[in-house]
Amino acid sequence: MDKINIKRLEVFAYHGVLPQEKKHGQVFVVSAELYLDLSVAGKIDDLNETVDYGEICHVIKAFVIDNRFDLIETVAEGLAEKILIENPCLKKVWLEVEKPNAPIPLNFEAVSVEIERGWHVAYLGLGSNLGDRAEHLRFAVRELEKMSDCRVLEVSSFISTPPYGYEEQGDFLNGCLKLETLLPPRKLLDKLLRLENKAGRIRDMRWGPRTLDLDIIMYDDLVVSNNRLVIPHVEMHKRDFVLRPLSEIAPNLVHPIYNKTVSELLGEL
Ligand code: ADP
Ligand code: MG
Repeated sequence: MDKINIKRLEVFAYHGVLPQEKKHGQVFVVSAELYLDLSVAGKIDDLNETVDYGEICHVIKAFVIDNRFDLIETVAEGLAEKILIENPCLKKVWLEVEKPNAPIPLNFEAVSVEIERGWHVAYLGLGSNLGDRAEHLRFAVRELEKMSDCRVLEVSSFISTPPYGYEEQGDFLNGCLKLETLLPPRKLLDKLLRLENKAGRIRDMRWGPRTLDLDIIMYDDLVVSNNRLVIPHVEMHKRDFVLRPLSEIAPNLVHPIYNKTVSELLGEL
């Protein structure tokens, strides 16, 4: 992928665990690689089609000066998030934060941290079968739209489906949405569980009635399975109420284990 490089920008600031570092300060050196498509800007010679590296240098300088963290890890993490949120055309950033004069009584050139952060694509399944079902699903969409580290790109229509697992309960309203997010899968799951609670969900029985159910259906082409999280969602390929709305917004999305598209999986049900 194309990128813009910012090499070794020097900023005098006050990060560090030791009191003397917060009091006297020292030089920090920040390098950045900003990943985006530069082909349009390059063809039509227009700054609006790329990012202004001068402006980003000033953003880096202000962020490093205006904060006082213990760790350069925190400097890097905060900077990556700020740069990605403020520049929608960036897909990914790589950052290095160096401390050439870290208080270590040894001969060395610098200590540094390097991180890479970026936007990930996730598909979520939404469900409700208690109270105002459509309003609960719309609530979830609105709350996700408010989060600076999430961008809702597409929302399917909502379909009414018979209950699954435990049948003595009302019909569900189900939908799917496409999300871009800076959150890693675990953090995304935590946010979704908080939204379910905020919508008044009470967890008393498995597959029981719920005001709001938010599931991670896919996350990039990641495959994970542990006691808290299974991605792709363990039953997505068997569930009509997931595949039908998903096929509206992502018919050609490929299941990374079965190697079939959403349309194909739906056709096989
Ligand atoms: P279900 O959605 O299967 O009806 P719940 O909504 O009650 O079940 O979720 C129970 C737990 O399932 C969550 O606390 C979470 O840890 C786990 N889980 C595993 N994989 C996923 C996933 N892909 N998306 C959401 N939750 C998941
Ligand atoms: Mg769930």
